Parts: sequence; C-alpha cells; structure tokens
Amino acid sequence: MLIGAHVSPAGGLPKAIERGVERGCEAIQIFNQSPRMWKPTTYRNEDVAAFREAMADSPIEAVVIHAVYLLNCASDDAEIRAKSLASLTHSLRVGHAIGASGVVLHPGSAKTGHVGDAITRAGGTIAEALAESEGCELHLENTAGAGGTLGRSFDELAALLDAAGGGKRLGVCLDSCHLLASGYDIRTPEKLKGVLSESTRKLGRGTVRSLHLNDSQTPLGSNRDRHANIGKGELGRKGCAAFLSAPSLQKLPCVLETPGENREGPPRKEVLLAKRLRKQGLDARS
Ligand SMILES: [Zn+2]
Ligand SMILES: [Zn+2]
Repeated sequence: MLIGAHVSPAGGLPKAIERGVERGCEAIQIFNQSPRMWKPTTYRNEDVAAFREAMADSPIEAVVIHAVYLLNCASDDAEIRAKSLASLTHSLRVGHAIGASGVVLHPGSAKTGHVGDAITRAGGTIAEALAESEGCELHLENTAGAGGTLGRSFDELAALLDAAGGGKRLGVCLDSCHLLASGYDIRTPEKLKGVLSESTRKLGRGTVRSLHLNDSQTPLGSNRDRHANIGKGELGRKGCAAFLSAPSLQKLPCVLETPGENREGPPRKEVLLAKRLRKQGLDARS
C-alpha cells in the first residue's frame, strides 16, 4: 500500500511533490484547480514536465487527482451538468498529462429528486467525459450518504458504473470514513473482510483502485461526512489498522484527507502514524 496525503499544489505542481516528501508520503492527492471555482487551471508543458521530474526523483510513486466539489454530474440543471462535464474532462486530461493513477470523483447528488434518474444523468456525464479524454482512470468515490448524494452503497456504485458504460478506465475509490458513515461496519478485520467481499461481488474484482483513509467524527450509519484525525474518531486506531492491512487493498494508493491539528491537512506525523498502524495491522493478521 502506498500511504500518503492530500496536499496543495499552490505555487506550482512540483510544490505538491515537495509537500508530499516533507510529509513522508508514498502517494499524494491534489485538486487540479481551485476547489471553489469553476475556472480551470491550465498547466504549461514545463509545469507538467517539472512535476514528472520531481516525482521521479522522489519516493512518491502515485498521484491521484480529486475533482473539485462543485461538480454535480447528476444535476437536473443542464448548465451545471455541462460545466461539470467540462471540468471533469479537464481533470482527466491533466491526469493523463501528469501520469495520475486516476481522477477521484464524487458521483453527484440527486438533491431531492429521483435517485434512479440522477444515476442515469451522472452516468451519461461520466461516459461523455471519458469519451472526450484518454488514458487516465476515473474512480467514483463512495459517499457518506448525506442528503441526496449518490454512491452511498455498493449497489448504487454498481448502478453508477453501469450507467457510465463500465469499461477499463472506470473504478472506485473507497473512503473509510464514508464507509462507516454510510453503514458499513469496517472496524475489525473480520467485518471489513465481509464488506470487501460484498464490494467484489457487486462491483467486480479489481474495481477498487484507490483509497482514502479518514477516521470518522460521527457514528456508524450516521450518513454524515465529518473526517476525524486518524485514531481520533469512531474507527479508532484498531479500525484504521484493519483498513490499512486488508490483504486485497495492499497494492493501492491510500491518502489521508484528515483535518490535521490546525485544519491544515494531514501533517507528517499522521502519515507516519498511518504507516505504523498498517504494520501493526499486518502483524496482527499474521
Ligand atoms: Zn474521500
Ligand atoms: Zn469525506
């Protein structure tokens, strides 16, 4: 497992590598544009080349792009859908340019509307973004299930993958906090094993391609998306160790998106804690 953190690319793409190295990361996740604005960031070829060079010279082996939260591929407003399509396509192109393992996307929200119709719209938008880009994978992230958010269960993720046309470039990103909040008890190796076999059964083998490790401030089935620092929430150190040591997840990049002590994101010591918990989890299993 490649453990790391969400980091900022402020000051230029290579800065993200620098921040990842400072934090002891083997994998990093970045936003490819300002998370609160639709306007895409255009990277020059030199920026991309400098990023690739910095990454090659670093211990960082995987980079994941997180699509910005403004997107709603499932919106019933055609204008929002068109903007979401343009932004997602741009993210996939940047992902291809920088050699990202994938673009992680919150599949969208039905708001108060019909869930099935929203899944169909999301699938259409996602299929179009894939058709208009090449190479880079797209990972649909499971959600905590707040409001009308899509992707709260393996059944919904399966329906979304299906609506988006399946295909090799489509996968899933599993977030540990969202799993717990949406009602999947993953706090022991045994329970997690059951949840992961359900995911294989419903999504297909090899569909989970990336991971988010976050503890959860709110309990099992709360449907609230409140990340806690590692070991400080409902998963606790044992639950995090179980997630980090799951045999079927060992080849994947796993990034922390925790608030950190000052809401500055995961610091180095938390990344190192995650690495230690993984080791403890692996030892406990053997
Ligand atoms: Zn996440
Ligand atoms: Zn979250």
